Amino acid sequence: MSQATLRVPIKPGYFTIPDDHAAAPEVICTRCEDCGEYFFPQRLVCAKCLSRNTKEARVPARGTLYAYTWVHMPLFGSMKMEHMEGYGVGQIDLPEGPRLQVPLAGKRDDYTIGMPLTGELEGLREENGQEVVIIRFKPAGS
Ligand SMILES: [Zn+2]
Repeated sequence: MSQATLRVPIKPGYFTIPDDHAAAPEVICTRCEDCGEYFFPQRLVCAKCLSRNTKEARVPARGTLYAYTWVHMPLFGSMKMEHMEGYGVGQIDLPEGPRLQVPLAGKRDDYTIGMPLTGELEGLREENGQEVVIIRFKPAGS
């Protein structure tokens, strides 16, 4: 994939797409300005204190694996052969508090509960000259 290809999210509002293809994405959360609680996905009203004084907060895509399973279906909408054998789905706890449910890279044997993970962008397909990407997680340092 060339650096010139524009990358677009499969759905906007969940993660950032850095211009630098080597840079890690960020997760787009909401932070309550009154009680400090973080939420993902974004929300207008704080679920803890019901304040509407909330702001978008971008946090690094990293956390620990809370639970995971393996889905024996092709990754949604992907045209890549490596995605045809199925994919993992993990619940990942961000240090800020929110628990994400996202696809996992690699194989089932790569994962154990409680391990540190980092996020990356993964291309699914080309659409109108743009690359449609998702966020997925992998073992930290891999
Ligand atoms: Zn609050």
